[in-house]
Amino acid sequence: MARRTMGAVDLAMPNRRQSNHMSLPRTEQLQLDRFLDRLQRDAELEIGFPVAFDFDYSALTPFLSFSLNNAGDPFMPMTYLLNSHEFEQEVVAFFARLARAPEDKWWGYVTNGSTEGNLYGLYLGRELLPDGIAYFSQDSHYSVGKNLHFLNMRHIMIRSQPNGEMDYEDLRETLRIRRDAPPIIFANIGSTMKEARDDIVLIRSILDDLAIENRYVHCDAALCGGYAAFLDPPPAWDFEDGADSIAISGHKFIGSPIPCGIVLARRGHVERIGHSVAYIGSVDTTISGSRNGFTPLMMWYAIRSLGVEGLRRRIVESLAVAAYAEQRFKDIGLAAWRNPQAITVVFPQPPQAVCDKWQLATAGGYSHIICMPHVRREQIDRLIGDIERAGGSGP
Ligand SMILES: *Cc1c(COP(=O)(O)O)cnc(C)c1O
Repeated sequence: MARRTMGAVDLAMPNRRQSNHMSLPRTEQLQLDRFLDRLQRDAELEIGFPVAFDFDYSALTPFLSFSLNNAGDPFMPMTYLLNSHEFEQEVVAFFARLARAPEDKWWGYVTNGSTEGNLYGLYLGRELLPDGIAYFSQDSHYSVGKNLHFLNMRHIMIRSQPNGEMDYEDLRETLRIRRDAPPIIFANIGSTMKEARDDIVLIRSILDDLAIENRYVHCDAALCGGYAAFLDPPPAWDFEDGADSIAISGHKFIGSPIPCGIVLARRGHVERIGHSVAYIGSVDTTISGSRNGFTPLMMWYAIRSLGVEGLRRRIVESLAVAAYAEQRFKDIGLAAWRNPQAITVVFPQPPQAVCDKWQLATAGGYSHIICMPHVRREQIDRLIGDIERAGGSGP
């Protein structure tokens, strides 16, 4: 899809009469124009972060003229009528189906992203199991430590395997010596650096072996939640596999110009924490008060225009580009690898100038690219050329 020049967009202003006729002085207009030029240049060299760029939501521009606000529970009526709850409901229902949530026994909302979705999942876990201990792996996203701190939860970090997946033996041994405290498992469905997926069916079987019945499993599917259901075979990540809650980022695989996400949970869990609030005429089941009414509209537009088949095609093509990239790295002698059915390709850190130019995230001597749907083979070829010219790996 073509990127659009925002300067040319004609904001349909249905409430123009009341607007304060915002208009920029010339110097600030030039500042905006320069910013747009820079974004167009930088976007061309962005293949390292887990965000898709191939969206076009220009059909939704008229809705930017309204102060949409989805405060409160998306499934409850709300006093303020400029909300997009009806679209939010459809979005959440779509992802609930992808995540094989039990019919009519799920709940969820559109978040500001997976940091919020993960906070919500951990919060539910803590409310249900107040004496619980959270377990997460070394490869978990940096925001997990912050969320655990917000919630003042006891927690234990579990070792990771070299591929980034949780070390299940370390989990088993750690759980065995703390059988008095119910576990709240924080599983990665696509870790940040290596796109490793913790196997929640295996984790549940470990809990079963240890006869631990009071437990909670949250899945951080920020990265993979947009396509896990389309992988063949799918990873163990969803409600039928035993998740109690799942966080998915909307701006990652689906793609959106504003960060957003979807959080899903078993309804019974949520019913135990909601409080009615007279002021908004709704039930306060969400973390934020005022909530974005525009991002649910974008997610709705994406799922309805792409459909299940369109989403499936996107991941098939992304996997093909990732396989291509892995091979191109190997062809120039770099030890690149990726997890099974992953769009993240990990390789030894290239010289710093290459990392800077291509905005490559790097940790522990390794860099990665993430073959999101906008990433083209021709960009991979250019990156490979730059690495070769700079002399291979090493900063
Ligand atoms: C991106 C990411 C997060 C944080 O999600 P945001 O949507 O950026 O808040 C958490 N966990 C993983 C694995 C991620 O990739």
